[in-house]
Amino acid sequence: MKVSVDEEACIGCELCSDNCPEVFHMTDGKARRVVAEIAEAVVDKCKESAESCPVDAITVDS
Ligand code: SF4
Repeated sequence: MKVSVDEEACIGCELCSDNCPEVFHMTDGKARRVVAEIAEAVVDKCKESAESCPVDAITVDS
């Protein structure tokens, strides 16, 4: 599974980095993906983060 963050859309709420720090880190007020391939163990958390993002800035490709 792959994930990407639209940094233009991100409003820096930190929800994704709080929920899934294995995948998302905050840099300069924007969420950044820190791994290219999502480990099986964090797939569900990563999908939850995408669904919870208030501006739909996270895209998940399975
Ligand atoms: S949940 Fe969405 S808006 Fe909030 S920091 Fe993550 S990508 Fe940005």
